[in-house]
Amino acid sequence: MNNQYTIATIGSHSALQILKGAKDEGFKTLVIALNKQISFYKRYSFIDEIVGVDSFSEFPEIEEKLIDKNVIVIPHGSFVAYLGMEGNKKMTLPYFGNKKVLDFEFDRVKQGEWLKEAGINTPKEFKNIKDVEFPVIIKSFGAAGGKGYFLINNKQDLDKKIKLFNGKQFVIQQYIVGVSLYIHYFYSPLTKTLEILSMDRRYETNVDALGRIPFNVDPSYVVVGNSPLVLRESMLPEAYEMGEKVVKKSQELISSQGLFGPFCLETIITPEQKFYVIEISARIVAGTNLFIEGSPYADLLYNEPMSTGRRIAREIKNAIKENKLKEILD
Ligand code: AMP
Ligand code: AMP
Repeated sequence: MNNQYTIATIGSHSALQILKGAKDEGFKTLVIALNKQISFYKRYSFIDEIVGVDSFSEFPEIEEKLIDKNVIVIPHGSFVAYLGMEGNKKMTLPYFGNKKVLDFEFDRVKQGEWLKEAGINTPKEFKNIKDVEFPVIIKSFGAAGGKGYFLINNKQDLDKKIKLFNGKQFVIQQYIVGVSLYIHYFYSPLTKTLEILSMDRRYETNVDALGRIPFNVDPSYVVVGNSPLVLRESMLPEAYEMGEKVVKKSQELISSQGLFGPFCLETIITPEQKFYVIEISARIVAGTNLFIEGSPYADLLYNEPMSTGRRIAREIKNAIKENKLKEILD
């Protein structure tokens, strides 16, 4: 039955993981790739079809061609970066996930309310410059991959950096000193259970390289890769609790369907073993690419390699079996 459906995504970010997982679960697979990258995606035998475009802005025209193919689109980190939030919302092909969550994810104010109302510990935010307690980090709205952030330790520097934003929106946040830990969750609306499938820490340049330099350099937070990490087992129950609170609150705040499928809480852990959640990503994150063959956490739940990409396909397969596909597509 699965082979009547084609799982499709845009060629970048975590497309390989998603399509490999889809093939492992018996689906046909399709990638929409830049023409210059077609030869790259041809290397992988689990991709059945490649649709080439000169630019991802051609997506709406491609959609029309795919409408009869029984395609299910899996969004990932590039969707908003390349198609914009409106482009995501306007997508007419069946889309895995709840698009209503997008509004809460990309508005930093709404996202903060969601997390706080869920009872999650978040860094303090300073609305008024005179209240600022240093160090702080200034973050632009909708930043991709940590670009455009500044760490600031005094008032003079704060005034200078704020001018650089030139009227663009930003937030000033308490800077949390600790270890970053990105927790990869999957919430199944079919079984109503939450799973932690893996975790990573990001490698960011140059903040993660400063220990190698004997003089002062301003840190930057542009992500260049990800490395694996396992959490002290005594902290794992709290990691589950945080995920459950966020899902439950989304069902009250966003829509009864709420947040489902893959999501990530981006945390920083202090020496007191306190989690601070700095951001939520309501989709598959690139750090899951470390675990295409499974992870220590996925291995505890499944007796087979289970990546986040494959878990998405498994959910779709189960929904087809139970005749509930409509409930997980938007
Ligand atoms: P790319 O496919 O590299 O062009 O990235 C598409 C989007 O995903 C951009 O917004 C990137 O910042 C984001 N992205 C790519 N790789 C990662 C990563 N390893 N961690 C976090 N974000 C990423
Ligand atoms: P984000 O775009 O919110 O995922 O943040 C990108 C990176 O900026 C994180 O991985 C952290 O290294 C850093 N960062 C963001 N917010 C904070 C914060 N409040 N305290 C410390 N570091 C932060």
